[in-house]
Amino acid sequence: WHVRFSATRCIGIGVQVQHLWNQPMTTIFWLCRDFRLSDNPALAAAAKDGPIAPVFVIDSALMDQGAASRWRLQRGLAAFDTALREKTGHGVTILRGEASDVLPKLARQIGAGAIHASDWPCAPMRKAQDALRKALGDVTLCLHAGHLLIHPRMIRTKTGGSYKVYTPFARAVREAGPDKPVNRPRDIAIAADLPKGEDLAKLNLAPDMRSGAAVLDRHALPAGEDAAATRLERFLDHAKGYGEGRDRLDMDVTSGLAEALALGEISPRTVWARSMARIQDDRTSADDARKFLSEVLWREFAWHLLVEFPQMDSRNWREDWMEFPWRPRGAGLEAWQQARTGIPAVDAGLREMRVTGRMHNRVRMIVASYLTKHLMIDWRAGLRHFADSLTDWDPASNAMNWQWVAGSGPDASPFFRIFNPVTQAEKFDPKGAYRRRWLLGYDGSTADTARDYFDAIPKGWEVPDAYKSGDAQRKLAERRVAALDAYGQMREKLQSL
Ligand code: FAD
Repeated sequence: WHVRFSATRCIGIGVQVQHLWNQPMTTIFWLCRDFRLSDNPALAAAAKDGPIAPVFVIDSALMDQGAASRWRLQRGLAAFDTALREKTGHGVTILRGEASDVLPKLARQIGAGAIHASDWPCAPMRKAQDALRKALGDVTLCLHAGHLLIHPRMIRTKTGGSYKVYTPFARAVREAGPDKPVNRPRDIAIAADLPKGEDLAKLNLAPDMRSGAAVLDRHALPAGEDAAATRLERFLDHAKGYGEGRDRLDMDVTSGLAEALALGEISPRTVWARSMARIQDDRTSADDARKFLSEVLWREFAWHLLVEFPQMDSRNWREDWMEFPWRPRGAGLEAWQQARTGIPAVDAGLREMRVTGRMHNRVRMIVASYLTKHLMIDWRAGLRHFADSLTDWDPASNAMNWQWVAGSGPDASPFFRIFNPVTQAEKFDPKGAYRRRWLLGYDGSTADTARDYFDAIPKGWEVPDAYKSGDAQRKLAERRVAALDAYGQMREKLQSL
């Protein structure tokens, strides 16, 4: 390959005609999942042409998304709005409706010749882009790559197909080399006479979070581009031990960048370039930083798979899984969703997700395996629960990982591999600190996770009496942990016989 696929696709004639006259042109910057000023090709291209209308659209695709990720998106939007105001004196115009409806109207109103947006290549967004393209007339729609390290068409096997196995895929991306980040625009002029749009201060994108929103607030990581950049640098400062510790439930050694990557508060290309620069300058632990980048490549793999198979969140990748005899959902699913399975590592993880909107990666595998392999409940039920509850929800990573654990995906964990939630916990939470934290409701710090969990329980969930007071809750959890310890001792005894 000597020619790289163009990172930008422009369809329409508006841009070309105006460029012929070399006139500055008003363009719309349609903010989708690219909440950053740096390394934002769509913003850079729009700002280069003339004044821009920075617009966010609250459309049905967004409102169909899970509650926790909408809650998180609003924080990202607010942070971007503040950063843009600091730079230009103007914030984001927030419009409600379908993009195919509101953007052509706005283009006519302000005389915009083009719309620039980051490509977010998932099915609902593709649908919105197609509808918009049809409604645009002579206004050009330019979709810029920015969400991925490299265009999926650049990464092909020798026979021209897409990779289905992670290791050769990762090798191919490393060999091709990810795209380079683009500079932050020096000047951004904002178009005059923009409509007022919705008031960000009064916006509530996730009314369905109810009391859970206040709980997520208590545990929220700082949002926005600056916070993500700082998080990355801090992670690289202390990367030593990541490779060994990233599976430990009781240690906090991972980057915590998933939310920022999901919303585009930082681009994967920036993550790659900064990490490589620090490896080359010997300013981070090289092996650990490389391991971290191999995780970023799992995200990339997920997106390349989703582009190949857009139904990855709803259909088994492997045809032979179509007839799998899943058990009926019912009580088993409810107990799992409500963290009442009685298996400490599983319940602890599901509580962590309810309270913080995040869950340790190893625990995600444990709870997903428990649902699909112990309870034998269809992975799509678990995927939906995660999609509704995770603040770092990402359509590609969520779908690929659920299919990986279930065994129905490409390069998946074999169907006979079952994560044993007890031995996994013994290995990765050897002193029970993680389970104590989320089941007992305290961890020796000031965190009161029992109160938080109780506050976050939605209406309609069964709340056993023991969950209603911190003390009773603690006793219940202590009994569970004691039972677990007894089980561990029994196992040891049996093994030593
Ligand atoms: P780090 O260890 O610091 O990794 C750096 C980055 O690499 C992450 O931020 C993430 O972008 C990427 N990454 C790491 N592990 C994976 C992985 N297994 N698959 C894809 N990308 C990865 N991740 C999401 O971002 N959104 C999801 O909706 C999501 N759903 C998941 C569902 C299941 C069933 C499982 C098993 C995993 C899921 N993951 C998902 C992957 C993973 O659990 C999270 O990315 C990780 O826990 C985020 O923590 P971190 O940012 O500290 O990760």
